[in-house]
Amino acid sequence: MLTHPPLANSLVELDRRHLVHPVSSFRGHEARGVRILTSANGATVTDAEGRQLIDGFAGLWCVNAGYGHESVIEAATRQMRELPYATGYFDLGAEAPIRLAAALAERAPGDLNHVYFTLGGSDAVDSTIRFIRYYWHALGQPGRDQFISVASGYHGSTSMGAGLTALPLFHDGFGVPHSWQHKIASHDLYRNPLASEPQAVIAASVAELRAKIAEIGAERVAAFYVEPIQGSGGVLVPPPGWIKAMHAVCREFGILFVADEVITGFGRTGPLFACEDEDIVPDLMTVAKGLTSGYLPMGAVLMSDHVYEVIADGAGAKAVGHGFTYSAHPVSAAVALEVLSLYEGGIFDNGRAMGERLQAGLRSLSDHPLVGDVRGRGMLAAVELVTDKTAKTPLPAALNAATRLFDRAWEQGLVVRSFAQGVLGYAPPLCCTADEIDAIVARTRKVLDLTLEDPEIRAVL
Ligand code: PMP
Repeated sequence: MLTHPPLANSLVELDRRHLVHPVSSFRGHEARGVRILTSANGATVTDAEGRQLIDGFAGLWCVNAGYGHESVIEAATRQMRELPYATGYFDLGAEAPIRLAAALAERAPGDLNHVYFTLGGSDAVDSTIRFIRYYWHALGQPGRDQFISVASGYHGSTSMGAGLTALPLFHDGFGVPHSWQHKIASHDLYRNPLASEPQAVIAASVAELRAKIAEIGAERVAAFYVEPIQGSGGVLVPPPGWIKAMHAVCREFGILFVADEVITGFGRTGPLFACEDEDIVPDLMTVAKGLTSGYLPMGAVLMSDHVYEVIADGAGAKAVGHGFTYSAHPVSAAVALEVLSLYEGGIFDNGRAMGERLQAGLRSLSDHPLVGDVRGRGMLAAVELVTDKTAKTPLPAALNAATRLFDRAWEQGLVVRSFAQGVLGYAPPLCCTADEIDAIVARTRKVLDLTLEDPEIRAVL
């Protein structure tokens, strides 16, 4: 364990010189330096100074089962000892990925019976784009090559998927979105420019999707992508019935419907997959994160029978030219199988109970002068800070609120996601105890109180 400060200091220096961090300001990171985590157990992480923190964000919304499960370590070790690698090319395979594919197909809604494994969420989304293009080619409609997604959505960071992502940070300077990638407005209930009542938001989104399809030409639209709850856009929960209404529009025009469950899958919102709550069966689904609880990298595309059959018939004896060296990695699959048995052995049940506690606890913060909105479902939530509740004025961008709030929470022993302009995000491990959930809420209140005392915040109130 790394507790020796000089060693930690030398690591900070090595990191600064050599490690490029994802989605970070390179210069900002050089100035701030890395915070090194050294160990973790349950919902608690420990840093290089020995400080223990509750991980209110489960790593990056992924460690759903919590840290330190010996049975997961044993499953990985056993698989590594027996067979650390097997390719899926050349009709080869291994037991663990086959069993995992069957387990997912059995549990997924409807006829999502065919599983293509990836290394994470971004390449799962990217794979759907490739499979969908192939599908329409196979059906003799290669001109169906236009894709629609939702503003504030996140669908990964590959050179194609980043264009379905609808966050400027992932576009500016990267030459995306591509001309075939289109957006409709978000269903955001708090800051919706079109409407604020749930039914009006649904009607506005349906009208906009129809208009977008008409503008592109229905015969040219390949697929529509949604997250059941938008995550990286700030935990934006659609009104009940929104997804079903969008799904119905896609059905009407024969457009494939893709549910990106990379965050919402594996008990994060209550059920195994969040689209179960919406009573729809997507044509394709992407998962990652909670699939292995972050113990090893893995994602997957789940395909419905008809998508699989069209691609299979279209290719005939020819190989479908899409694959990665590490597709269906046996060690990741062995970990995912063990994680699934832990989930079903009680962690999902605990997560559902703790989700209610988390939502109630965070909603109790609504009385705080800085809290404009509290939203979420299950173990997924956000608290949005404003300087004026009526005008919904965001914290001034110049104050660099995201870093300040993150640092302040850290000082209170809490890891949260801190989105730009003062939105705190929560996705704790589903194994949290009631005391840990209560501590997340209490420490958040402390962060809010300290923020209220901040002279630079006071100056803009
Ligand atoms: N889709 C969604 C909805 C996500 O939230 C993410 C990651 N946060 C991704 C795709 C990309 O997954 P990854 O980071 O594993 O590539």
